[in-house]
Amino acid sequence: MDFFPAGSRAAVRGAADRFTGTVWQDQIHSAAEPARLRALRVFFEPGARTAWHSHPLGQILHITGGTGLVGRRNQPPQLVRAGDSIWISPTEEHWHGAAPGSCMEHIAMHEAQNGFVATWMELVSDEEYLLSPA
Ligand code: MN
Repeated sequence: MDFFPAGSRAAVRGAADRFTGTVWQDQIHSAAEPARLRALRVFFEPGARTAWHSHPLGQILHITGGTGLVGRRNQPPQLVRAGDSIWISPTEEHWHGAAPGSCMEHIAMHEAQNGFVATWMELVSDEEYLLSPA
């Protein structure tokens, strides 16, 4: 058994080529093989969001605070709030982040395939981000 006391692992700021705005990630779980599950708590400042990306085995997002947006190709973003859970299908291109005037926090859970968890693409443009949400 491994025990990770609160605050014992430093928060990591999201890299500028994968996130727009300020995003902080707290590790929850990233066990070695043969375990596959990865879990992170992610905090987005207003306007902050991921770049477009996909996950080889899908991803579940559970919103734990604030109001956010989840975007898919050729569709207006979906407004999401604390308590919502969103399943992203394997290889589905998407992004997630805070709404323009609100912080958002979620727990992201996904499985690694051959050690990798995401394929990263271009940043989400302001036009894509500011489309009226569904
Ligand atoms: Mn994702």
